[in-house]
Amino acid sequence: MELSRRVMSIQPSPTLALNAKADALRAEGVDVINFGAGQPDFNTPENICQAGIKAIEDGFTRYTPVPGTPELKQAIIDKFKRDNGLDYALDQVMVNVGGKHSSYLIMQALIDEDDEVIVPAPYWVSYPPMVILAGGRPIIVPTKIEDGFKLSLGDLEMAVSGRTKAIFINSPSNPTGSVYSPEELLPLAQFCASRGILMISDEMYEPILFDGRKFTSTAALGPDIYDHTATLNGVSKAYAMTGWRIGYMGGPTDLIKACSKIQSQSTSNPTSIAQKAAEEALNGPQEIVAEMNRHFERRRDLMMDLMAELPGVTCYKPEGSFYAFPSFGAYFGKKAGDKVIQGSQDLADYFLEEASLAAVPGIAFGQDDCIRFSFATSDEVIEKGMKAVKAALAKLA
Ligand SMILES: *Cc1c(COP(=O)(O)O)cnc(C)c1O
Repeated sequence: MELSRRVMSIQPSPTLALNAKADALRAEGVDVINFGAGQPDFNTPENICQAGIKAIEDGFTRYTPVPGTPELKQAIIDKFKRDNGLDYALDQVMVNVGGKHSSYLIMQALIDEDDEVIVPAPYWVSYPPMVILAGGRPIIVPTKIEDGFKLSLGDLEMAVSGRTKAIFINSPSNPTGSVYSPEELLPLAQFCASRGILMISDEMYEPILFDGRKFTSTAALGPDIYDHTATLNGVSKAYAMTGWRIGYMGGPTDLIKACSKIQSQSTSNPTSIAQKAAEEALNGPQEIVAEMNRHFERRRDLMMDLMAELPGVTCYKPEGSFYAFPSFGAYFGKKAGDKVIQGSQDLADYFLEEASLAAVPGIAFGQDDCIRFSFATSDEVIEKGMKAVKAALAKLA
């Protein structure tokens, strides 16, 4: 079959591909050490599950309004106000089929052929393909580990052109765990606002924040910035609800209306019963979120301690999210048997073959020195896994 140029121009999600590889090994009976997970290892809290069950029992199983139920939209408005100090009206928020869908819709609503979208690297794997699927050009801007993988105003000014329509900022970051301070965000956001560039602030890991840090939402940095920012969030990571597929966003009315139009012609509303569960997540008790965060922070500490024992490996200490992104550049050029390890893909393949250990090669995130290790897993797996990494590295010559 002759498929579209559009679909031929992108690759499947490498993180989901790795999960599939690890699952296949596991099905063969191999005891896979999985650092590949892009999701919390906790179950969805009971009160949230009950709200989903009740929705079914109440027969809440029909179409809802395209941008989400009024009740869930109100819960989102209340959340933005309570946690982020943001005022959004009912026509400024919408519910999407997972957070991934929010960025996808924005690209479809905003980008024309050859428009440019700035994507700082390391980036979340889906940003560049989403730009390409909309006909646009992702402008990848590398950042350095020494700068905490953060973009500077100088980097941004260099990357902007007359065709720049938007920029993705993801803090706390998947894959680096880096978090922008308000002082670091402000000049970037001011610059974008002054140029009419939409700042797409992906705040999916908002509550997963370490060392007592406080979160600042980009749109809260000033009225002009608010007008040029789309705030993306969701329940997937915060409430361990990845399978429910509910994300949401707040932003300028015309943008939300445009995204809603596309949603109406593609997915229609997000699942009715999942919306009821998400409403309970946002309105219900929040202690569980802090409790999960404490686990993530302890695991971060454990992983960093063990990582420090790996010769030649440097790792930025994650300030949020549940990923560490160590650099293994010192091992490139070494050999496993007669195979030369040339980059992150070779090394990740080696870890999988040698140690039955799954982790995502940094090349998927636009940073080939590094490999992403998810610490959304038990202390036992972290201990066993880092030991296995150490042994596997020692065998390289
Ligand atoms: C997981 C994730 C999302 C959204 O996930 P959904 O499962 O689609 O809700 C968005 N951005 C980043 C950076 C993520 O890691």
